[in-house]
Amino acid sequence: MAKITKLDDIVSLCKRRGFIFQSSEIYGGLASCYDYGPLGSELKRNVREAWWKSMVQMRDDIVGLDSSILMHPMVWKSSGHADKFADYIVECKKCNARSRVDHLEDAPGKSSSADDLTTKVCPGCSEVGNFTEPMPFRLMFETKMGANADDTMTLFMRPETAQGIFANFKNVLDSTRVKIPFGIAQIGKSFRNEVTTKAFTFRTREFEQAELEFFCEPGTDEFWYKSWKEARFNWYINLGIKKENLRLRDHDEDELAHYAKGCVDVEYKFPFGSGDWQELEGVANRTDYDLRQHQRGMRSMSQWYEKGRDLTKVELVDEAPDYHKGPLSYFDEQQKKRYIPYVIEPSAGIDRSTLAFLVDAYDEEEVNGKTRNLLRFHPDLAPIKAAVFPLVKKDGMPEIAQNIAGSLKKHFACFYDEKGAVGRRYRRQDEAGTPFCITVDGDYKENGTVTVRHRDTMEQESVSGDQLLNYLRDKMESWNCK
Ligand code: ATP
Repeated sequence: MAKITKLDDIVSLCKRRGFIFQSSEIYGGLASCYDYGPLGSELKRNVREAWWKSMVQMRDDIVGLDSSILMHPMVWKSSGHADKFADYIVECKKCNARSRVDHLEDAPGKSSSADDLTTKVCPGCSEVGNFTEPMPFRLMFETKMGANADDTMTLFMRPETAQGIFANFKNVLDSTRVKIPFGIAQIGKSFRNEVTTKAFTFRTREFEQAELEFFCEPGTDEFWYKSWKEARFNWYINLGIKKENLRLRDHDEDELAHYAKGCVDVEYKFPFGSGDWQELEGVANRTDYDLRQHQRGMRSMSQWYEKGRDLTKVELVDEAPDYHKGPLSYFDEQQKKRYIPYVIEPSAGIDRSTLAFLVDAYDEEEVNGKTRNLLRFHPDLAPIKAAVFPLVKKDGMPEIAQNIAGSLKKHFACFYDEKGAVGRRYRRQDEAGTPFCITVDGDYKENGTVTVRHRDTMEQESVSGDQLLNYLRDKMESWNCK
């Protein structure tokens, strides 16, 4: 039976095997920032590529984008981030620790509504109900651009990648032949000065997002919303997440942003926190809000100059009465009509889903009285697809194994290892999540076969060296997630 995974097991495996390290560890570490090591960077790259493959490569109606992290400050005025992107926080009067109001938990045996703090516990010192009044805390990091005093400008590190897509909507329309319905997808770093960070890489201050803005005709938005909700749920399942650990949770009316017509979270049952179920990704029907806001922002640009490029003094002007014909509108050739498209936005976290894939793949089992730790990764995500070993370091076996590894490397990530007993080499690959180990033994010289050992079942099979590449490709392509 699969073991119940604890976050501590994951953290220690990640450090031991080089998946994830604390950032700047040799200087004592930097809170909530993490570095991906040799195996982790491969894993994360595979998660990113799996997203890109399903969202861009496999579709005719989605194009990619890679916009810059630093953007014009007016972008954040229009999007609402400059004024409203804040979490409500409180300070504990006893220990001064600051916490996000919506993250506070009730003291054991007590409960109250979210906005009544009398029963809430300070995560710093466990004091109950002794907090300051909630106050807004801005989440965007600021930085300065420009070398000369008179042209320096305060910029924000983007807190989401989505606005880079809206700001390029017209560029994409004008430079490609996309027609509505279509999407623009992007993966990139985002930054938020989160008040509370915890649970390893679940909530960090620098993280990677994978976002799609899917533009559609108003009136077709419900259809696309439903379709994306299902597609995004299935993406995780097809990459091996167990169905019982994943769910869709519709937002209640009072959780919805004022412009959103609907929002659903894809949630994963993480092994931490009181409720376990935590957001992996949000899918929202954002209506035509963002493009309309950017049209207001574009119309307000004269103020930006007149008010000395001081964002706090800029007031977005009202929308033009004929806003639906504005610069970010879309002309439907067939219907001969112009409108501002509606947007369905699936917004995922690459780091957060990488953590979910790690947690879900982690397993421990007893084999011959010993514990075997393994990561049951889907082959698309496995950092190493195949490891090649000579059984012993003699009789020409290392050379043959190196040749095989060399030819497989042209096709996928492959690892050659000749150190230590073969059983221990298998165990190391189990922990790295490598689906196949290939051993070259005496049989190769006799009949040209190698032994393929399967990570999940530990079964071994004899495969002809000539057929090895095809064999492995077939197995990976027909991989069946239970
Ligand atoms: P939360 O309520 O947990 O702060 P959110 O609803 O603000 O998250 P979104 O703005 O919808 O999150 O971001 C989309 C996705 O980006 C999230 O589902 C998550 O996967 C990822 N994400 C957001 N903030 C962080 C973070 N601080 N660290 C890691 N991933 C994050």
